[in-house]
This record gives sequence, C-alpha cells and structure tokens, in this order.
Amino acid sequence: MKSEGLTLEKQKVAANSTCSSSQTDDPVSAFTSLAGLGSQDQTSYGPGASFEVRPPSRAAMARQAPLPAEYRSLLPDEIDTRIAEARRRLGDRLVILGHHYQREEIIRHADLRGDSFKLSQLAAGRPDAEFIVFCGVHFMAESADILSGPDQQVILPNLAAGCSMADMANLDDVAACWDELARVCGPGTIPVTYMNSVADLKAFCGENGGVVCTSSNAPALVEWAMRQGERVLFFPDEHLGRNTAHRLGLGRSIVWDPRKPLGGNTVEELRQSQVVLWKGFCSVHERFTVEQIETARLEHPDITIVVHPECRREVVAAADMDGSTEFIIKVIEEAPAGSQFAVGTEINLVRRLQAEHPDKLIFCLDPIVCPCSTMYRVHPAFLCWALENLVEGRVVNRIAVDDSTRRWARVALDRMLDLGA
Ligand code: SF4
Repeated sequence: MKSEGLTLEKQKVAANSTCSSSQTDDPVSAFTSLAGLGSQDQTSYGPGASFEVRPPSRAAMARQAPLPAEYRSLLPDEIDTRIAEARRRLGDRLVILGHHYQREEIIRHADLRGDSFKLSQLAAGRPDAEFIVFCGVHFMAESADILSGPDQQVILPNLAAGCSMADMANLDDVAACWDELARVCGPGTIPVTYMNSVADLKAFCGENGGVVCTSSNAPALVEWAMRQGERVLFFPDEHLGRNTAHRLGLGRSIVWDPRKPLGGNTVEELRQSQVVLWKGFCSVHERFTVEQIETARLEHPDITIVVHPECRREVVAAADMDGSTEFIIKVIEEAPAGSQFAVGTEINLVRRLQAEHPDKLIFCLDPIVCPCSTMYRVHPAFLCWALENLVEGRVVNRIAVDDSTRRWARVALDRMLDLGA
C-alpha cells in the first residue's frame, strides 16, 4: 500500500515551518500556535507534530482534548506552584520523566532526566510509582508502557506531542516494503527499527526476527542483523542508518521511498543491497550543515564539533565526534575547563549544557536555534492539568499499548538487551 501523505519536499517545508527560535526564548509564545492549546483543530495528534496526513495507526486513535480554559490563563509562576503542590500530594505514587530536549520549565519538575530509552529503563526501576508522567513524545510514552509493570500507568501530558520522524514510517508501508523485498530478493531481510518509532513497528521487528536499536547501539545491532540474514531493512531514520552502515563498512546501501514503486530502486539494486534505508529524517537534526561546521572552525580554531548521528552523513563526516544525546552530554561533562564545543543537536539540551558548564564554550551549530517543536507541545500547563487530574483520582492521557503489540515489541526490545547492546 502506498502512502497518501505529502511529498517529501512538502514534508520538509512543513517540518521546518514549525520551527521558530521564539520557542526557545518565550515559553508562552508557542502556547496557542503550536502547543495545541488554541483552536479545536490543533488538538489532535496531527499536523505540526506529525505533519503526515495519515498519522501512525495507533497514535491516530489518540485525540488531545482542549485544555480547560482555567489552565490557559495561568501565569508561569502559578503553574509552577500548582505543579509542585500536585507532586507533593501524589508523593511516591508519581514519577515525572523529562527528556533532555524538554524546555527548562518542564525539566525543573522532572524526577528523572535522560534520553528516551534511559528514561524508560529508569521508570521500570521505579515499580512503586503508580503513575509515570512522560514529558517527551508519543513513541517514548509507548516504550515506557511496554517496559513498565502491569500496575503502572503511563501518561503523556499532551497527546499532540508526536515525533515527525517516527511518523514517517507506519506499519502498512513498512509491511508492504517487507513483502516487496521478499518477492524480489527472497527471504533474508532483517528488520531493525530505531527506538524512535511507533510501537507496532517495534512489534513488527519482534515478530519477524528483528530488533530495536538506539543511536548508541545501532552499529552493534546492525552488525548482529547482518549475521542473521542477507540484508537489513533500517527504519525510520535514513541518516542514522547510513551513518551506521558507513561505520560498519557496509557499502551497498539504498534508500526506500515508500511513495515510489520498488521504493525508487531497480530490481538489481534491491538484490545487490546490504542495507535498505527508510526515507525518513529528524526535522531538528537535518538542519545541521557542513557550512555551519566550517564557520565554527573558522571562528574558533580550537573548537571540537560533536553531532548526533541523526545528522546527514556529510555532517557527521565533517564533525570530530558523533554520538547519542547521552554521549554528547558525557563528552562535554568530562572535558576540562576551557574546552570549546559546537554541538549539533536540539537547542534546549545545548542551552542546558551551557548553563551547567559556564567554564566551557558551548554553542549550537545552527545559528537559527530550533527546538524540537513536537516536544515543545508539552507545555507546563498540560503537565499541571494532568497532575491535578491525578490528584482528583482521574487518569487523563494514558498511553496504553495493546497486549499483542506489547508482547512482540517487548521481544524486539529484549533481543536488544540480551545482545548486551
Ligand atoms: S528531535 Fe527529532 S527524532 Fe527527536 S522527538 Fe523531535 S522530531 Fe523526533
């Protein structure tokens, strides 16, 4: 089945049009325009967060109700006070997870901070917490639900907080690609999905001998997958897949565009391929360029360039280092005073690193600072609303993965953990 979504160029325009530097300066500026607080037609999981016409299958069922008027008019200090009071009343029944890309106004209320997989693991280590409030995006809350206990409930404060990259691969399109590869090349294609994917794609990997990977263990898991079969089908991030293939010396990579017959390839190209890369990207990390790196080196001759592997291949090649969010944090934390870093990742994290390491020069490679606009939909007013409902005994915005999907997704996640990656 072919996607009925927008063309890739239109997707890029749509993704970038949701990016505004004002989002990082004024937490309320995007309150009505982007946070899903303003009009009724912006309250679903949909365009902007997930600019595809057709959102991923399970997320399509999630609809964000309009935020009650009372919460829309609260001042930032009032929101802070009310969140603190709700946390006090919920005590150990509650754990709040804050992804590194969240704004400061959210992170200050988080019990635990990390990247998506680390947070899910940390949450699993808190079986006493009845409520896991995940200040991140939809696929992260799904992963937390898959990894948490049966008595724990996972809550996403704003259901409109999707991930534009995760939305670029849905089960129908991936299954169609899988069938086509089997028809043309025979069996032997191992599916590998990045953590940034919807739960039913993780389940697809579990059911079909594949695995989930993170940005830090992708090389080890693609290497494992290559030992299991003839080729790897890697989704949804083309760039992470290509950077990983390059690191492993796998030269025969092709791109699968779900909008084109045979993904835009010839039969011969498919048969020769080692890695089939899904045509997806992160709208934040795709913004970084080689020109930005050259400018940083010109202006700061002692600079170290560190970027996320969701950046394009040529950007990673031009950088000094690349690695996951946790890797970037570790490199900067362990560097001696006076070190200089230009960083290619999300701006809220870069600004936090600047604040926490005033003895080092740290700046974002992209001069037009752009936060992850989907993460940004978790406005503190939504967090306040979700917590106060919990205090009143009402669970709002629960993310619950169905049993079959959970079982197979867990297989793919456990395979990753069993491989020690
Ligand atoms: S930074 Fe990119 S991959 Fe991460 S949640 Fe935002 S859009 Fe998705």
